[in-house]
Amino acid sequence: MVGIVQGVGFRPFVARLAAELALAGLVRNTTTAVVIEVEGAPDQLEAFRKRLEDEAPAAATLEHVDVEFIDTLDALRFEILTSSGGDLHSAGLPPDLAICIDCCREMEDPTDRRYRYPFLNCTACGPRYSIVEGLPYDRPRTAMRNFVMCADCRAEYEDLNDRRYHAQPIACPACGPKLWFERDGNCLEGDAIELSLAALAAGEIGAIRGIGGFHLACDARNSAAVARLRVRKARGDQPFALMVRDLATAREFVEVDAQAAALLAAAAAPIVLLAKTGTTQVAEDLAPGNGYLGVMLPYSPLHRLLFGRMNLDALVMTSGNLHGEPVVTSNDEVSEKLGGQADFYLKHNREIVAACDDSVVRLYRGRALAIRRGRGYAPISLGLPSGTVPALAAGADLKCAPGFSHQGRAYLSPHIGDMENLATIEAFTRSLKHISSLYHCSPELILYDAHPGYLSTQWARQHAADNNLPSRAVQHHRAHAAAVMAEYSIDPALRVVAVVFDGTGFGDDGAIWGGEFFSGDLRHLQRSAHLPYVALPGGDACAKRPALAAIAHLHSLGLDWSTTASAASLVGSQRSLLQQQLATGLNCHLSSSMGRFFDAAASLLGIRHSVAFEAQAAIEMEAVAAQWKDDAAYAAGLWNTAELWAEMLTDDASPVAARARRFHETVARWSCETAKALAVDEGSDTVVLSGGVFQNVLLLEGISATLEKAGLRVLVPRYLPPNDGGLALGQLYLGALADSR
Ligand SMILES: [Zn+2]
Ligand SMILES: [Zn+2]
Ligand SMILES: [Zn+2]
Repeated sequence: MVGIVQGVGFRPFVARLAAELALAGLVRNTTTAVVIEVEGAPDQLEAFRKRLEDEAPAAATLEHVDVEFIDTLDALRFEILTSSGGDLHSAGLPPDLAICIDCCREMEDPTDRRYRYPFLNCTACGPRYSIVEGLPYDRPRTAMRNFVMCADCRAEYEDLNDRRYHAQPIACPACGPKLWFERDGNCLEGDAIELSLAALAAGEIGAIRGIGGFHLACDARNSAAVARLRVRKARGDQPFALMVRDLATAREFVEVDAQAAALLAAAAAPIVLLAKTGTTQVAEDLAPGNGYLGVMLPYSPLHRLLFGRMNLDALVMTSGNLHGEPVVTSNDEVSEKLGGQADFYLKHNREIVAACDDSVVRLYRGRALAIRRGRGYAPISLGLPSGTVPALAAGADLKCAPGFSHQGRAYLSPHIGDMENLATIEAFTRSLKHISSLYHCSPELILYDAHPGYLSTQWARQHAADNNLPSRAVQHHRAHAAAVMAEYSIDPALRVVAVVFDGTGFGDDGAIWGGEFFSGDLRHLQRSAHLPYVALPGGDACAKRPALAAIAHLHSLGLDWSTTASAASLVGSQRSLLQQQLATGLNCHLSSSMGRFFDAAASLLGIRHSVAFEAQAAIEMEAVAAQWKDDAAYAAGLWNTAELWAEMLTDDASPVAARARRFHETVARWSCETAKALAVDEGSDTVVLSGGVFQNVLLLEGISATLEKAGLRVLVPRYLPPNDGGLALGQLYLGALADSR
C-alpha cells in the first residue's frame, strides 16, 4: 500500500480494524509502503479491504493498494511488527500536522497529566517530517530518540485502544521535551510561556522555536513593535505573516469565507493570503500597500498556549532568518544569527532535523494554490509518469526547492530560499542529503536550469563532475510546463499547448523569456508564440524598477513616455541616463517577460515604480484590479501592445481599478485566442498553465474559465507552486526522460 501511510496512525488503525473483524496477521512499515498480511473468513477479509479504504485516518492518503493472496500462517492474533528496511516500495512520510481537537482538549483540562504541556501530540497530530532522521518512521529514527518514555507514556504507546498507540513523538511533562525562556544568554526561572507573554505584551520581539524553525514574533496590534521588527529585519515594505487566536480574530483583519476557513483550519495549517477587510489600521502596518495579508492559525500546542491567557490575540510570526538566508533551526545558532533582532528567546530541546518554513497559499477555486511549499506540505512525493531515469534536479536560483526522482517517484525538498549566499547553498546541500538518505535515492543524472549564471547551475555541474555523473540543462519555461504535466501524470506523447507566464528565465536564443506559448508533446515543446521582445535596461535589474520596464516598453514601440507617471517617478539625472541607455541599447537585454509586462502596467497606472520584494508591483495591481467587478477588456488587436498602452493611457478618466482590470482582461483575451488557435493547429484539447505570473488568480481564472468554455481541458498547478518552487519537478520529468533529446 503506497501513499501517506506512515506517522498518521495508520498501523494502529489497521490493527484495531483487524481486531474488530477477528482477523489475524500483521502490519509493518517498510521504507516506502505499508504491508498488511491478514487471514480469516473470506467475507471478513472483504469487509476489511473495504473499511481499510473507507475509514482510513483523515491524515492518510492511500495512493494505491495492491492485493495478493499468500499462504496462511495460522496466526493467532494481529501484530504490529517493528519496521524493516530495504523494501523496494515507497511510502510517503507525512508532513507535520497541526494539533488536533482531542489534544487541544487535553491541554486545556487541569485534571489531565498533559495540562498545558507544549509538546503533546497523538497519532493524528504533531511533528513528523521536521523530526525524522530516517525511514521507516519509528521513534529511534526521530529527534525523540533521546527522550526515554515514562511508564505512563509507554502504556499508552502499547495500548491498541489508546489514541497514542504507536504515536512516535509521544511525550508528557515527565519524560518529554522542555521549554525555557532566555534573555541575554541567561535562562530565566518561571513559566516560560508566562514570561514570553509578558515580554510580548511589553512590545518586545521574541525568537520562538517552533516546528520547522524559529519565528520572530511580536504583538501585531502594537504598531511600534511591528515597526521595530521591520527595522531590525531590514526588509522594507515586505509583508509580515500574522498568527491569530481564532477565525473570529482573523475576520477582523481579512475576509474569511467558508473555503478560506477550511484551509486555515486544515492539518497543514498554511499561511493563507486573504484580502484585507480594510478596517484595521494594523493590517496596514503588517503589509503596507498590499491588498492581501497572510494569516494562519496556531498549529502547535506551544502556539496555542501563547494565545491562551492574556489579551494577545494576534502575533506577527515571521521566519527567523537573516535577510536572504534560510530559517534558523538550532538553539546554538539562534543568538548568533538573530541576536540583533530578538529581545528574548523561547527555546525547547526537541531538535529540528529538517528545516521547514511555513507554507504560503492562495485560494483558487476553493482549494490551495501553493505560493511557497513548506511545513504541512513537505515532503512531497509524487508518482512520475513512466520512463524517467533516477535523477537529481537543482531547480533554479529563486525559491529554490531541489528534488530527486527514484523508482518512478519524485521527492521534493521544501522551500529553501533564494540562492544568493553561502548559507542558502549549505541549506540546499543539507536538504538534498536529508531527502536522499530518507528515500535512498542514488541519482544517475544531474539536471539544472539552462541559465549559465545561476549558482544552482554551477553547483549542479560541479556536483556532476565530482561524482562522475552525466548532467543536462533544462530550459526554464519548458520545465515549468513539464512540472504541471508531471503533476497530472500526462503521457509524454500527448500533444499539448503550454502557456508559461513568468518573471524571468534563460531562453534558447539567450534572451530573457517569460511570456511563452509552447505546443507539441513533452519531448518536443516548440516555442510557437511569445510576448513581443522589448529591450529592457539592465535585464533582470528591471524587476526591481517597474518604472524602467514601463518606459522601455513604450520606447520600444516609439510611444511618448515623457508625460507618464513612470517618467515622473525618475529623479535627478535618472531620466537623461535612461534616455541615453535606451538610445544606445547599452546593457539592454531582449525580453519577452510577462512579469515585466505586468510591472510596466503597474507603473504606468501609478501603482508602483520600484519594489521592495519580488513581484510586489504585480501583486498590488492584481489587488486593485480585483476591486473592479466589470470584466470588459480593451479593444487592442491581438498582441498589439502599442494599441493596448495607448488605450490604457488615454483611459485616464476611468478609475485605476477599472484600467488595471481592463489590462488583465486584455492579456487574458489575447492569451486565450492564441492558445485556442495553437490547440486547433496541434489537434490538442489540453492547455497547461504555469509560471510565476499565474500566482495572479485574477489572470489564472480569466484564462482558465475562457478556455474551459471553449471545451479545452485546462491544467493548472495542484500541489506545487506555479513559480520556480515547482521547477525541479519539471526538470525531473522532462530532463530525465530516458530518450529525450
Ligand atoms: Zn492530537
Ligand atoms: Zn511520559
Ligand atoms: Zn520561472
